[in-house]
Formats: sequence, structure tokens, C-alpha cells
Amino acid sequence: MALIVHKYGGTSMGSTERIRNVAKRVAKWHRAGHQMVVVPSAMSGETNRLLALAKELAPATHTTEYARELDMIAATGEQVSVGLLSIALQAEGLQAVSYAGWQVPIKTDSAYTKARIESIDDARVRADLAAGKIVIITGFQGVDAQGNITTLGRGGSDTSAVAVAAAMKADECLIYTDVDGVYTTDPRIVPEARRLHTISFEEMLEMASLGSKVLQIRSVEFAGKYRVPLRVLSSFTPWDIPIEEEAKSGTLITFEEDEKMEKAVVSGIAFNRDEAKITVMGVPDKPGIAYQILGTVADANIDVDVILQNVSHEGKTDFSFTVHRNDYAKTIDLLNSKVVPALGAEKVVGDPKICKVSIVGIGMRSHVGVAATMFRALSEEGINIQMITTSEIKTSVVIDEKYMELAVRALHKAFDLDQDAA
Ligand code: ADP
Ligand code: ASP
Ligand code: MG
Repeated sequence: MALIVHKYGGTSMGSTERIRNVAKRVAKWHRAGHQMVVVPSAMSGETNRLLALAKELAPATHTTEYARELDMIAATGEQVSVGLLSIALQAEGLQAVSYAGWQVPIKTDSAYTKARIESIDDARVRADLAAGKIVIITGFQGVDAQGNITTLGRGGSDTSAVAVAAAMKADECLIYTDVDGVYTTDPRIVPEARRLHTISFEEMLEMASLGSKVLQIRSVEFAGKYRVPLRVLSSFTPWDIPIEEEAKSGTLITFEEDEKMEKAVVSGIAFNRDEAKITVMGVPDKPGIAYQILGTVADANIDVDVILQNVSHEGKTDFSFTVHRNDYAKTIDLLNSKVVPALGAEKVVGDPKICKVSIVGIGMRSHVGVAATMFRALSEEGINIQMITTSEIKTSVVIDEKYMELAVRALHKAFDLDQDAA
């Protein structure tokens, strides 16, 4: 008997019919003798719908008090899901009980809309499991030290599931979704994308952080920190396929580099449309400018991603960086009001219509010329590179948003990702 955590995403929970299928699948695992904890997301579209309602009524300035209410509202989506799944399991003749985050409790900090899990008390869940029940816990939400409901950021149910699996030392955490695993790139953009049988934890971490939303990055961080056996697989296979077959399907996140992984130089391509580029032009080139510009931005709690400082001409330089698109207007205002006058810079210009495309692969550590192949493929398509950033196992470029799909396809081909490596 093993302790297994299943997570089902929004599409998998998208209708009562699909919830019934989830219940049948979970029941199959339970009947095979496993202790089951299930973490579902809100039904597809529900979180968007709830947040859109809030937006219609939102005050002009977005205060912490406003963010608190957003979490209050958004968290209801998952509360409906757990209740529905629980009664669907009861209809299967099983004992099931659902809990909201605060009832477990899953304790988080107070950073509304992007809270971090601090601790999970598993006593109540363990008692239920020992009594033969299936336990269903809301994804995406928790409770802070003051008893306020918090949410973990979009896609946060992945993190809830892995954190629950880590806290309970589960034997495996299975992330059921609307694709049958992790692909070389988003199969919605590149139909030739291939499913990976395994992906190393480090590569998955990069893919998630660079925009592949198949797993929320914090879920991968948790899996790494607590060594949670983690697999991504389809919720759309027939629920009654043999359990042994299901248990081996999808993509396993591995913690040891095996030989096969060494063979592929580039394992995957990620992209992100959520960033915007900002350039402070005509900055006097002297020590401390990066600190003055980025320090001011950081003080306003705005995260900066790619950074580029150009060579100077006649003592002046341009300084560019990217931020999340949601922070674009705020950052420009901040630079115009505080940084430009203080530095004696010329002006601030920006472009929200950019995207970042990245190649990821552990094999890049030991191979030269990978970035050159990337740049050649982009140049052959006539795509201009605006910024470049590299680390040991990834290279990212910032390009015009309108070339994103073309770039992803060209790179997928250039690195032979559509060819089976086996
Ligand atoms: P869920 O609701 O189950 O959490 P998500 O929509 O959050 O599902 O994540 C699954 C989606 O992630 C897929 O439908 C796919 O379009 C997208 N995706 C992006 N990159 C990849 C990738 N490399 N492999 C698989 N899916 C990917
Ligand atoms: N329902 C939440 C969202 O839409 C959490 C999740 O689906 O993982 O972001
Ligand atoms: Mg998701």
C-alpha cells in the first residue's frame, strides 16, 4: 500500500461528466489498495471568471486590502471542485471528505495572490486516511497566520499538490492534465513536439521558470527540495486502463542525470509572452547607474528579468531590462518620476510587445556552439534578437512578440527536437 497524491487541473475538472471520470479513476487507485489524497483545481475558466467579476468592481488603486478580497473570491473556485469531487466519490460507494486550505491547514505567508506555503499540518488528513477515507484538498489556496485566505498564484494547484505530497512523504505525486506529459515544447504551438519520457529536475525547473506553464515553478522547487517523485500524465485516457500502465505513462521528473539525457543537447523550448522591455536612454556612463535604476525598481517590489547595458558613446549609454507586463506602466512612471531626473538621463522608452524564447538542456553544459545554432536559426527566419541571456543550461532571447511562434518552430527544427532521440 502506498500513499499517492493525485492533482487534477481545470480542464480535467471542467464538467460534472469529467469530475465523474476523475472520481472513477481515483476510486480505481483506492481499490488497488492505495491511500489517496486528491488536489483538484477550479473547473476550467472559473478562476478567470471570478477574477473578471472582481475587476469590474475594482477600486482605482490596488491596495493590499483589495488583493485580500481577490484571494477571498478566487479561492471559492477550488472549494466548489473539492465538494463536487467528494460527492462523486461518495456516489462510487467510497468514503470521501473535502477540505479547504484553512481546514487542513495549509499555512502560507500573507502575500495575497502569490502566497508561499510555509507549513502543512497533516494530522487531520492522516486520521481520515487511516479511517479508510479518500481526502480531497483544495489546490491553489491556504491561510495566513491571521486566518486570512490566501492564494498561491496562477497555476498554484500544482504547488499545493507537491507540497502536500512532500509534507506527507507520499510515495508519488501524479499531476493529471490535458496533455499526456511534458513535451519538447508546448504542443499547442508546435504539433510536431514530442513527449519526453523523463526530464531532469533542473531542466523542468528552467522550463517552468521560462514560461512552460505545464507545471507551476514552485511545484518543481518543492519537488526538488523534498525529492518528491513527480509525474505529469493525461487525465483523458479511459479511466479504467490498467493501473500499472497508467503508473508508467506520461513524463517522470528525474533527479539523477542518466545517459539518455546526456545525449540530447537541447531538451526543450520555452516561451513567455508576459514580459515587457524598458530602456532608459542617454544615461551618463558612470559607476552606480545599474544600482540606481534597478535599486529603485526593486524597492517598488518589481521583479526584473533580462538586463542589458550597451557600450557607451561620448559618456552616455542606454540601459534596458524586462519586467512582467503587469508592472510595465508602473515601472515607466517610476523611472520618469524618480530615476530620469536623478540621473540626468534623456528619456525612457518601452515596448510591451516582446517575448522571450529559450532553449533548455543539461547537455548545453558540455557542448559548444549551441547558442550559435540558435542565433543562426533565428537569423535564417529574419528574426531580430533584441536581448540575450544565458546560464549553464539555457539560452534565452528577447524578440518581437509577433515572431514568437515562428521562432519556436524554427528552433524546434534546428535542434532536431521532432526526431525521436531513442
Ligand atoms: P492544468 O489546468 O491541468 O493545470 P495547464 O493549462 O496549467 O493545465 O497546463 C497544461 C498546458 O501546458 C498544456 O495544455 C500545454 O498547452 C501547456 N504547455 C506549455 N508547455 C508545455 C510543454 N513543454 N509540455 C506540455 N505542455 C505544455
Ligand atoms: N485555479 C487556479 C488557476 O486557474 C489554480 C490552478 O489551476 O492551478 O490559476
Ligand atoms: Mg496548471
